[in-house]
Amino acid sequence: MTDPIRAEIERHLDEPDPPTTGPIGATGATPRTSRAALPRTRYDWTRAELEELLTDQPRYRVDQVWQGLHDHGTDPSEWSNVPKAVRETVAGALPSGLTPVTESVSDDGETVKWLWALADGREVETVLMHYPDRSTVCVSSQAGCAMACTFCATGQAGFDRQLTTGEILEQVVRARRRSAEVGKRLSNVVFMGMGEPFANYDRTWEAVRRIHDDLGIGARHLTLSTVGVVPGIRRLATADLPVNLAVSLHLANDRERDELVPINRRYPLAVLASACADYIEATHRRLSFEWALIDGVNDSERHAAELAAYAHPLRAHVNLIPLNPTPGYAVRGTSPQGVRDFAERLTDLGINATVRRTRGTDIDAACGQLRATHHGREPAAPSATPIAPPTRRR
Ligand code: SAH
Repeated sequence: MTDPIRAEIERHLDEPDPPTTGPIGATGATPRTSRAALPRTRYDWTRAELEELLTDQPRYRVDQVWQGLHDHGTDPSEWSNVPKAVRETVAGALPSGLTPVTESVSDDGETVKWLWALADGREVETVLMHYPDRSTVCVSSQAGCAMACTFCATGQAGFDRQLTTGEILEQVVRARRRSAEVGKRLSNVVFMGMGEPFANYDRTWEAVRRIHDDLGIGARHLTLSTVGVVPGIRRLATADLPVNLAVSLHLANDRERDELVPINRRYPLAVLASACADYIEATHRRLSFEWALIDGVNDSERHAAELAAYAHPLRAHVNLIPLNPTPGYAVRGTSPQGVRDFAERLTDLGINATVRRTRGTDIDAACGQLRATHHGREPAAPSATPIAPPTRRR
């Protein structure tokens, strides 16, 4: 039997990486195909390449440029300590990869969300969240996403293209600069924006390495989040930086997860659990499961019991977050009381669970929401009638 969603997902998972264009290849629109050449932008450049570009300059000059780009995240036009000719060379050869389309700040000022245009006009989002003890940026790893999770705004809109390492890194650089401007230090990076990091593994991993090496953010402060792309989990198990892994589970039985998270049809729960178990054995790291609580869909007593049975042998930590409403999925998030009940049930069943606050609901900060709203599709009203919700079993 053919399954169009699965076929679409497999097409993108198995697709060879498109080539990257030369240094100034970032202009002009490319056709809507993921095989088009990717732009090469400012943060794709390595230190060695920069040295080659500035080969006629003394070493300290290269240091200044490198520090301007990485330590300060500033534009060449702001480098008053660097001669104009050098600034112009750098600005010409290393075009910025992100142009702000909109920037929204939540009422309390603690959440900032950007919608960026890429060099070819595609759009991605980045969210910066300040907490009392840390500042975390949530970055996109792809423009759009092919995973088609029904409740996710990005999944509803489909896949545009892979992000380059430079486009991922620049999101972190921009967020770090903004944090510094308000006297905060960007401490954490989570790959929970648009896209599936393990469907763009090589570029994502190169970005992780550069965030670690060039921006100096420790591996334990970096978290990759996957919908359950098993080959990526297996690769991460052998990686040489001990980053954190989160798996977006949302359901712990195949029948229902096949519908909500279609990649489950390719990597069913038993296969996923076995990859997670091998990952834990190889790395001795703690795994977390993400669970977006959806009213009447995955928040019953039975669902808590299924999750507990799944998470227990893996000693996984569970992060609970009420669903943010999205345009194409008119089901509500679980009520605050329902969230507390669910968390309590998990605790009673021996599972460590943390309830996450939704951040920036007033600025559409859920995955893919800002882009959707910006293009005229409002999120479903919280009071919208659920689409054939499964009966609650309490
Ligand atoms: N593809 C990766 C990373 C991007 S999504 C993954 O699936 O993990 C980051 C997280 O946001 C995932 O846990 C995803 O399930 C969750 N998410 C997506 N849409 C959401 C929504 N409308 N409300 C709450 N969480 C959502």
